[in-house]
Amino acid sequence: MTAVAPPASHARTRAHDVRTGLFIGGRWESTDTTFAVLDPATGAEIAEVANGGAADAVRALDAAAAAQDAWRHVPPRTRADLFHRAHRMLVERAEDIAEVMTLESGKPLSEARAEVELSLGFFLWYAEQIAHLHGTYAEGSRGGYRIITTHQPVGPSLLITPWNFPLLMIARKAGAALAAGCTVIVKSAKETPLTCALFVEILQEAGFPDGVVNLVHTTNSPAISSAVMSDPRLRKVSFTGSTAVGSALLAQSAPGVVNASMELGGDGPFLVLDDADLDLAAEQAVICKFRNAGQACVAANRIIVHESVADAFTERFLAATARLTVGNGFDAGTDIGPIISAAQRELVGHLVEELRGADAELLLGGEPVPGDGYFFEPTVFRVDDTTADVTRKELFAPIATIYRASSTEDALRFANDTRYGLASYVFTKDVSRAIAVAERLEFGMVGINRGIMADPAASFGGVKSSGLGREGGHDGIREFLEPQYLALTVDEAAALR
Ligand code: NAD
Repeated sequence: MTAVAPPASHARTRAHDVRTGLFIGGRWESTDTTFAVLDPATGAEIAEVANGGAADAVRALDAAAAAQDAWRHVPPRTRADLFHRAHRMLVERAEDIAEVMTLESGKPLSEARAEVELSLGFFLWYAEQIAHLHGTYAEGSRGGYRIITTHQPVGPSLLITPWNFPLLMIARKAGAALAAGCTVIVKSAKETPLTCALFVEILQEAGFPDGVVNLVHTTNSPAISSAVMSDPRLRKVSFTGSTAVGSALLAQSAPGVVNASMELGGDGPFLVLDDADLDLAAEQAVICKFRNAGQACVAANRIIVHESVADAFTERFLAATARLTVGNGFDAGTDIGPIISAAQRELVGHLVEELRGADAELLLGGEPVPGDGYFFEPTVFRVDDTTADVTRKELFAPIATIYRASSTEDALRFANDTRYGLASYVFTKDVSRAIAVAERLEFGMVGINRGIMADPAASFGGVKSSGLGREGGHDGIREFLEPQYLALTVDEAAALR
């Protein structure tokens, strides 16, 4: 066990003990090599974490496969009780988890706390589903038999998560998989392995049986996924991350026909119609764009405003953006933390250059913040040329781009002109317009007069290149269940003799 102590500049946070090993078959293990986890607010190393390889991943699959049969047969109420115990322990450790998350991801502590609350909401939602998974019963169409449909856990599942929501992504996946009766191998993101480890450790302490939850950290994700996905014992991959990696995983899942759920990239249009409440639209656009320093799949990627209100909206949006404070996530008053890594911050700089190259007008920011850590100014561009490549890219950065549309139809055309289809937003005071526009948006989710949508009771997910499947709501758990049809002969004549 390695103590993860916040750097001196975070003296107000207390030290946390987070296990840094792999967790396989109920045991924490060290490895020959380790990798460093950095605090993106300072660049300082905060922990050395075990670096797993293909052989470790296969051992994790051995453990998951060995535990699968017993786990699926744990009675629903017993499994739900275990979930509720884990949920209570997670609630007790909520502040610890939030602090570790801020330390390794850089996000403001207030955002980390909100993420923990939402994540635990998902976990509780799944706990509540466990005892309510009912099948169906029907008469066979030709008579003489009955159709009984039950749901069986799909089997050992590989869960791969990104760094931008270090707890939410894993709680949402593992909660659904475990509730459905699947055993799991969690592959953390190398930037944020500690939050994941803390989550797994709490599940272990709550009493999840050995082998049901396994955790592998690595700097070589392709080695892990290819070793495990070519093994016929693996029955499911659930991935959140970029579309490029998601496509590669889908190709890997093809030979063995491995069940796959994909939560991929987004290019969210944020439509402000000519009758919108501009104060509300600007306030929500700022949250939707700059939360987590813009590093969110559901971020407002293109703010598309009717030209008749564009100046008034832009004025409000700029004023609110200028009030945002960039700083260390542990400092009270910080709105925007650092970019996750030095490399990622460099990419943000390149995007600014690309936008300038497309003749976009820089209205605010545009520069990295000098000094320690990987900070970048909140940046706003007005973009008139909608043909440049950069206008079709997921920015994943604290860069807002504001476009003008000459009509609602024009706004919709540009909004849908993307390979992505995750989150979208529409602002209008007219409910009938909101519905008509929402139905024409080719996106899995539409926020109407709101810039934040995630909710445990809602089905979260995208269409087109943004993914396959849903997390949360009644659909989330189904991603880890396969229907099974039982045909039962009922000889009524004989039975009623
Ligand atoms: P990424 O695709 O680079 O990495 C995501 C995860 O996949 C990480 O754990 C990484 O180590 C792993 N990985 C990378 N290559 C792999 C491979 N060949 N095989 C197996 N695993 C591999 O994405 P990122 O940069 O960490 O995250 C940002 C992306 O995630 C953005 O595109 C964002 O939109 C997307 N995202 C989507 C959602 C959603 O719910 N749709 C949520 C959050 C983030």
